[in-house]
Amino acid sequence: MPVQEGFAQRLLPVLEELVAGYGTPFHIYDARGITETHRAMTAAFGEEPFRQHFAVKALPNPAVLSLLLAEGSGLDCASPVELELAARLGARGEDVVFTSNNTASWEYDLALKAGALITFDDRTIFDRADPLPETVAFRVSPHGLAAGSALMGDAAHTKFGVPAGELADAYRAARHRGATRFGIHGMICANELDVTRAARAAVDVIELGAAVAAQAGITLDYVNIGGGLGIPYRPGEAPLDFTEFARAVLDARRRCFPAGPAPRILMECGRYVTGPHGVLVTRVINRARKGREIVGVDASMSALMRPGFYGAYHHVSLPFATGRPEGTFDVVGALCENMDKFAVDRTLPEPRDGDLLLVHDTGAHGHAMGFTYNGRLRPAELLLTADGDITEIRRAEEFADYVATARWQPEPILRAASAHTAQKAGNPR
Ligand SMILES: *Cc1c(COP(=O)(O)O)cnc(C)c1O
Repeated sequence: MPVQEGFAQRLLPVLEELVAGYGTPFHIYDARGITETHRAMTAAFGEEPFRQHFAVKALPNPAVLSLLLAEGSGLDCASPVELELAARLGARGEDVVFTSNNTASWEYDLALKAGALITFDDRTIFDRADPLPETVAFRVSPHGLAAGSALMGDAAHTKFGVPAGELADAYRAARHRGATRFGIHGMICANELDVTRAARAAVDVIELGAAVAAQAGITLDYVNIGGGLGIPYRPGEAPLDFTEFARAVLDARRRCFPAGPAPRILMECGRYVTGPHGVLVTRVINRARKGREIVGVDASMSALMRPGFYGAYHHVSLPFATGRPEGTFDVVGALCENMDKFAVDRTLPEPRDGDLLLVHDTGAHGHAMGFTYNGRLRPAELLLTADGDITEIRRAEEFADYVATARWQPEPILRAASAHTAQKAGNPR
């Protein structure tokens, strides 16, 4: 979608001065937009017990995570490295939810030691876990009761969660192992922009939680309805009405838990919080006609994988080229991969060498999914602070980063087979 109005008003007047001194490409994020979105989410739940835990994987930059922690957000981690990052930023205990899958025992132990709220993705990990965490939660598989056929299709191929029909048994097993506090986790949508479908999916987890709690004879402390809320990437799409979403969730909570303490609501949104508040700033460096009108920019999909990898739509604009005649263009990077295109068949004002070209909505699953293939290294990340300063919150990678993990003079970690057997032969047993 077009750059958020406030972000555009804050960024565009200083952008040319910024790039003149700093160069391109880089991602830049709008601190004010991020905190406003987080606050609006919290406000939509009013006085009801609710906490949003930002999905670290969406934008794992310490400056942005600190900003969110200062707002009272928690963090959602799924790996030991994310847990360590959360700890370094001062996130403690239940500030962190740990929602991993295919989890190794040592990873579970780290989350346990951190005091995180742990979700068990399946019985295998649960059965191996010892000791149990103070609160035991299971993730329910996408089960398609709620959100229509696309998600029903997902259900058959999922690697996530415990099938809904096996949940009650899982909680009984936890009770028999002495667990006294319980939660449930369900994330049944991905980039869902339709509030009715998103709410239906969340309500489904709440209803299921109530049913399973009754069957297993447990009380739920919390229902974590996951992330997966969408943002309007395409112009003309309307943003999801979070207030309506929250109202549906709270209604379901009241209806399903009429007596006694109702579980608190947790969320793990990533994209919804930061996605619209970032842009990738690039410069046009080449124009060519190869059957198609090609616009080459100075970033490649190593800085933003979504368009090339999934064919995801990211809006593109040339903020300083208004008034020029329009044409249809492919906007491409420099990887030796034909999929390295930010936009295909896109109507744009005639781009010229040196123009600034913005790729929109890169605030989530953007830089974080970057890579270094072809030696096209990840660009910098900048932050437009609430005060209007622009700070560098991650520098661009350089050659030294590219080779930082390489061993220039490798030492054997296993000797050649001949030497090995010779050694063994001389060692009778
Ligand atoms: C990826 C992920 C999220 C965040 O997803 P968004 O689409 O960014 O909201 C939250 N929870 C879990 C378990 C995830 O895997």
